[in-house]
Amino acid sequence: MTAMPQLVAALHSFVGLAAVLVAFGTFRNHAAIGHLDSLLMAELAIGSFIGAITFTGSVIAFGKLQGVIGSAPLQFAGQHWLNLVLALAMLALGVHFFLTGGLLSFGLMTLLAFLLGVLLIVPIGGADMPVVVSMLNSYSGWAASATGFTLGNELLIITGALVGASGAILSYIMCRAMNRSIINVIFGGFGSDESAEAQQVPEGMTVKSAAPEDAAFMLENAGRVIVVPGYGMAVAQAQHAVAELYSLLDAAGVEMKFAIHPVAGRMPGHMNVLLAEADIPYDVVFEMEGINPEFPTTDVVLVIGANDVTNPAARTDKASPIYGMPILDVDRAHQVFFVKRSLKPGYAGVDNLLFYQDNCSLVFGDAKKVCEQLVQALS
Ligand code: NDP
Repeated sequence: MTAMPQLVAALHSFVGLAAVLVAFGTFRNHAAIGHLDSLLMAELAIGSFIGAITFTGSVIAFGKLQGVIGSAPLQFAGQHWLNLVLALAMLALGVHFFLTGGLLSFGLMTLLAFLLGVLLIVPIGGADMPVVVSMLNSYSGWAASATGFTLGNELLIITGALVGASGAILSYIMCRAMNRSIINVIFGGFGSDESAEAQQVPEGMTVKSAAPEDAAFMLENAGRVIVVPGYGMAVAQAQHAVAELYSLLDAAGVEMKFAIHPVAGRMPGHMNVLLAEADIPYDVVFEMEGINPEFPTTDVVLVIGANDVTNPAARTDKASPIYGMPILDVDRAHQVFFVKRSLKPGYAGVDNLLFYQDNCSLVFGDAKKVCEQLVQALS
């Protein structure tokens, strides 16, 4: 599951390359018989430049996500101006091709589009790649749709348009749930893995730690429990141990629910899929808006490998990069146990104020191991 974004990026690159190859193949065939009308040339130009940007952009996104190339944003002075100049040159060559049908302008336009694909994606931080993959998903849909026009294939036009539109909507939903704009994602260079350095405890603040046995004792004696899964649960593949924990507490008469933040993990629906895979019933899994009012009356919240989606700084600290992002109101519960391996921040690279609250104890360790220890202690 955690490797799904790079697989999707690789698949988008195939769509992009296919669009370019179809455009050139069609150009060659039609040029050979002297059948190059302006509508066809417009389709070829559009299909080829969207396809070329999608191809190289997706290859870079794949490389960053797979760790083949560094995930840090690669930024240099004048980068946006260079991109603008390249984009304008590409459009000018596209128009020239449309007016003259020349292979040279078509080829140069496509080469510039390949280059632009690289330059647009290298400045984006590795951690922002899921949004970029969704954006490239949209591009690949439009490239497929343009190819559909070229080939006179209605099915390709319709499916391409569906992918293009749904990818754009998904990118918008992801950005909105993170309280960021797509412009900020593309130009922000935000959330590089390098920002996730181990944090020192801020002066005057202390964190409490607890053993899994302490957490198990509190869970067993609680009336209402909410579990908040996050990226760490996915990395540790802890969902099956979490499901065992659910069965044990449910059998002991504890009311246990799951709270899912819309951008928990690294893909929309990431947590829902993992919980479903572990056979956790749908009716105990709640979306953020539905469950937030329940936190103040909850005895114990168990946060498993989530971080940013619980950070009260999003509500209170105007200077925080995540200020304004809706969060799960975990801090309002009576007691919080936070399972993670260290004090390192999450994706956004910001310290979580919740760690220093009186009602929060950190249970340090790998999410799967800690959940197994909880199960052992409870059984
Ligand atoms: P975060 O990335 O904020 O935090 C995950 C935490 O999991 C880390 O602090 C890490 O701490 C811990 N962790 C990692 N591995 C393990 C492990 N093996 N065992 C235990 N803990 C582990 O995750 P959230 O789910 O809270 O938030 C998702 C973030 O991703 C948000 O900022 C969101 O905006 C962003 N995002 C989400 C997308 C989506 O569509 N879902 C798309 C793009 C971005 P430690 O290293 O100390 O263990």
